[in-house]
Amino acid sequence: MSISIQFLGAAGGVTGSQFLVTVADRRVLVDCGMFQGSPEEVARNRLPFAFDADALDAVILTHAHLDHCGRLPALVKAGYDGPIHATGATVDLAEIVLRDSAKLQVEFTERWNRRQAKKAAAKEADEREADLENEAEALEVDDETLPERMRNARPEGRTETREPIYDEEDVERTMTLFQGADYGAEIAVTDGVTAVLHDAGHILGSAIIELRVRDGDDERTIIFSGDLGRDGSPIIRDPTPIAHADHVVIESTYGNREHASHDDAIEELVAAISEVRDDRGVLLVPAFAIGRTQELIWVLDDLARDGRIPRVPLYLDSPMASRATDVYLDHPEIYDDETAKLLRSGESPLSYPGQQFTDSVDESKAIRTAERPIMVVASSGMLTGGRIMHHLKDFLPDPSCTLLFIGYQGQGTLGRHLQDGGKTARIDGQEIEVKCRIRSISGFSAHADQEELETWLGHFAGDGKPKTVFIVHGDPDAAEAFAERVRKELGMEAVIPKHRQTVTLG
Ligand SMILES: [Zn+2]
Repeated sequence: MSISIQFLGAAGGVTGSQFLVTVADRRVLVDCGMFQGSPEEVARNRLPFAFDADALDAVILTHAHLDHCGRLPALVKAGYDGPIHATGATVDLAEIVLRDSAKLQVEFTERWNRRQAKKAAAKEADEREADLENEAEALEVDDETLPERMRNARPEGRTETREPIYDEEDVERTMTLFQGADYGAEIAVTDGVTAVLHDAGHILGSAIIELRVRDGDDERTIIFSGDLGRDGSPIIRDPTPIAHADHVVIESTYGNREHASHDDAIEELVAAISEVRDDRGVLLVPAFAIGRTQELIWVLDDLARDGRIPRVPLYLDSPMASRATDVYLDHPEIYDDETAKLLRSGESPLSYPGQQFTDSVDESKAIRTAERPIMVVASSGMLTGGRIMHHLKDFLPDPSCTLLFIGYQGQGTLGRHLQDGGKTARIDGQEIEVKCRIRSISGFSAHADQEELETWLGHFAGDGKPKTVFIVHGDPDAAEAFAERVRKELGMEAVIPKHRQTVTLG
């Protein structure tokens, strides 16, 4: 049987998840994510796909984070019109994520075009000035106004303009291709290929993909871990243990690190809140709109209910996070037992008492004058844009404030720079001094750590042990360290595929 996987994203890095599975003449794409982080990474989103989009048979999506679903509308724009399989919750969340992304793509492109036009105009004016002076000299005309008259007679030069990689119309078409599936249900993907989605415990609707490929009597199982969550995370269930696979493709975001425990994370959060309460300051939490924000609010509500934190008002300053919370509220059927029980007893575990939503940007900016102490949750989570940027300008120079990271900060992002101790931040061309406290809590991570990844992989034992474990979705150090551990502790063959590498599966 001829099966291959081509690693087209999240290979050698964390973002841009995209894996092309080829079985004879059938092609299935697992995830179609956006590259994020440094400008070099982001530039990859403009490159054409490595395959003919209209020759794909199906797409299966692990979850709704942008680095897993963000290029789907570009795929549709390139000609793909087949099904996109995902859980119902993922379909709902992906719609929010993709619409927001389309808006940003259009804005980025307009800004880029304006900047290019300005640059080109300045360059052209300089060149024209020099040309005209030379020409006037060559004509030996002693007329100082000649260059000016010649300039006015010339047509404007042309500048290169860019199209957005997709817009809202492309998202509209993408949404019509989605097919929602329940966890555990068998999906007929294409001739000889079926899939089953299992809860990955990472965000609402997140899935581990079990892909079964058949060629005559020959059958193989490939498991894609997607992003794996942690046991005991609020709201959602724990990652599903799987016992059998011929090949496993596993993430390694934290393949070289251990998180603090959830209990330690709670202690650190309580301490951070007490600190800003005492200083009458602001606790600013950059949060990913999908997943982390809902979990943080769940935890804050839990702490408030138990009287473990002072009543500090909370501003939820992310319309996208509010929309995502609505989707969370729409899917109680996939909550964990604890949250389902709270809901049954009449609690509202997805809202903090007295939380305030800020709809408009003006309301968001007005937070700077709110009576303190306050907590503000705003996105983006890695400080790469969004409302958090004007809060940073206000609160970074203020020693009574705390910037609290609760999620992964990608290499090359402002978030990573500040987390690593950067003393200044460049925002909108302004140099901002960092005088506030910078804290990081690792225990709220939505990703399994090294130990947890190993435990999950350890469930494949005996006959179920995979021939190969492909390590993806990690910075090189993390992937390397985890591969070493998989070989040593689990005795499995671990491979770190390179970007665009194709591997034929035995
Ligand atoms: Zn994710």
